[in-house]
Amino acid sequence: MADYYFWQTMPTTIGHILKNAGLLRADDVLLRTPSRYEDWQTPPQPMSCFKNKETVLVEGEIIDTQLQNWRSGRSQLLIHVADANEDVLIARFFNTTPGLIKSLFVGRKLRLRGVVKLGRSGWEMAHPKIQSTAAPGKMLAVYSALETLTQPQQRQVVEKALAEAAWQETVPADLRQFRGGDISSQEAMELIHLPPADESVIKELEEGTHNAWRRLRFDELLAHQIILRAQYRRRNKIIAHQISLPPKWEAEFSELLPFTLTAAQAKATKAVIKDMQQQRPMNRLLQGDVGSGKTVIAACACWAAAKSGQMAIIMAPTDILARQHYKTLTDYFRPASIECELLTGAIRGAKRHSAIDRLRMGLSRVAIGTHALLYEEKNLPQAAVIIIDEQHRFGVEQRRTLFTNDKAHQLMMSATPIPRTLAMSMFANMDISVLNELPPGRQKVSTILVPCERRNEVLRRIEQQNGTAYWVCPRIDESDKNELQDVSSLLEQAQSNHPTLSPTVLHGRMSSVEKQKAIDDFREGKTRLLVATTVIEVGVDVPQADVMVIDHAERMGLSQLHQLRGRVGRGGKDGTCILLYADNLSEKAKARLKLLREIHDGFKIAEHDLRLRGPGEWLGTRQSGLPGFRIAHPGRDIDLISAATEAAEWLLDNDRPSAAKLARRWLRGRAR
Ligand code: ADP
Ligand code: MG
Repeated sequence: MADYYFWQTMPTTIGHILKNAGLLRADDVLLRTPSRYEDWQTPPQPMSCFKNKETVLVEGEIIDTQLQNWRSGRSQLLIHVADANEDVLIARFFNTTPGLIKSLFVGRKLRLRGVVKLGRSGWEMAHPKIQSTAAPGKMLAVYSALETLTQPQQRQVVEKALAEAAWQETVPADLRQFRGGDISSQEAMELIHLPPADESVIKELEEGTHNAWRRLRFDELLAHQIILRAQYRRRNKIIAHQISLPPKWEAEFSELLPFTLTAAQAKATKAVIKDMQQQRPMNRLLQGDVGSGKTVIAACACWAAAKSGQMAIIMAPTDILARQHYKTLTDYFRPASIECELLTGAIRGAKRHSAIDRLRMGLSRVAIGTHALLYEEKNLPQAAVIIIDEQHRFGVEQRRTLFTNDKAHQLMMSATPIPRTLAMSMFANMDISVLNELPPGRQKVSTILVPCERRNEVLRRIEQQNGTAYWVCPRIDESDKNELQDVSSLLEQAQSNHPTLSPTVLHGRMSSVEKQKAIDDFREGKTRLLVATTVIEVGVDVPQADVMVIDHAERMGLSQLHQLRGRVGRGGKDGTCILLYADNLSEKAKARLKLLREIHDGFKIAEHDLRLRGPGEWLGTRQSGLPGFRIAHPGRDIDLISAATEAAEWLLDNDRPSAAKLARRWLRGRAR
């Protein structure tokens, strides 16, 4: 691919800097957009009009220079510049080089740009930018530092890239209505790097509101959509393990459950079963708040596979969750005589062998486990359906490994509600189901904010009011680096002052046996205070827990807080969530936490998070498997996403070469 050698066409030193920064192609250079613009075109101002601490452009002649040496060996160059009215300004240069000293000679005419300050002897300017009076006045793009490259060098590189890249229009005229206005992507790129001398345009460019930006954001969203939709289409060509169920399957499945499905659950199970009855593999994401009842949807998929004489796999991120699912599904399936096997890292030897044998012989149809399942895949029959619980907690690599069986129907479940628009752009390669209601009888968890200094009082209250509480701390052990509450000291404090709570701990450094015991004790009421780190054990279901204390809540995203809060108030008792905040917390940060008092809908909270903290939380490569966005922000560019999806479909149907070109353009560096 010739376009990967742009860096080699530059002078050697510059070329190597580009290569080291991963800027191999002209496209990569252009996608490093300016951080701001510098005005060298407004006529220079006379000094009599200066205001203190303002950025100005001044034109004049050097009338005196002084080189001052410091004892430290460093030197400072002072030049006195007089303008047409013979007002004088002193400019200081700290990093003097022989070249600079030589170029700033008495009698030279020049333009200086910088911030002026009123000093003891009049106007002063520290390390200003210099331009010769012969240079044409222009708006100049300023780029963030790139090793030793100067701004003029960076601009040269960009100009060469602009000439070379032929940032061609890939979105055809038919899709004009999808574009960000009537500007081509080449025009947009040029405008951003070589802006016109127009103050209002510059302002829009700097604020990111200009159509040129919108056009490029659309391009980027479109590129992502093309990649994801192409993946979706590829997967749809695979012939899947079809399952067949009798028409009255719904009634049959419902009979196994101890409760009636909510409307949202019924809808999701129908979608899942419909998918599994197709010839192409299901590719579905199930999103639902903590406690919305996702497990039963997984159970339905497993049941359907087993009923058709095929195998199902459920993979959970932790031993505890896998065990919980094993227990739940075994109970549900007992009347149907469908057996489940538990396969976690902790199950070894004869027990493991017999579990695998039973699955191989078809005596058991459901394998439930952790990522340990991945290593057994080759020893097991091909699964008809693979379910991944808390999918966001698995690294991309682990998920990909599991996908070796690409004929299997896949159901991903996630308790992180993602705003719809973001989900559309991130998961455009999947179908999405949402559980947007909680099972009946759920209490709204009342949420209160309490300063950390009242920690003792909170402990006392839990004891007095007979509560069963989770207490989440930001760290395991004490540290002298900061004053964050740790699990160990809280445990000590609770043990000595509130023994009736019989407190215990749960954190990531414990073995899975210890963790399981801690959860079991808590579930059985042997302990009423479970002190934990950012509860590693997502999804634990302990109905009588009614208090969730989150220490240093200000350090967490709203969605994460909301997920923690969702673990309480599941039994008959009202739930309370206590957000302990650092004593010096700003009003603004407090206001953010207060949102949780009013909002109880995970999707709405996620939208606030998206606005307040950006999409980073959801968009890490870890989660999306895609390179992050460079220019677009799916939270802000909501209005462009559905247009981008439509355009992506159109391009994949009608113009594959352009689709491929566009996708390649936006992929970072050498990727693919
Ligand atoms: P999630 O995985 O979405 O966080 P779970 O599947 O663990 O939620 O369900 C949480 C709790 O709600 C469980 O105790 C489950 O038995 C219960 N539950 C699920 N669906 C219903 C329902 N339709 N009616 C009553 N209780 C339900
Ligand atoms: Mg769950």
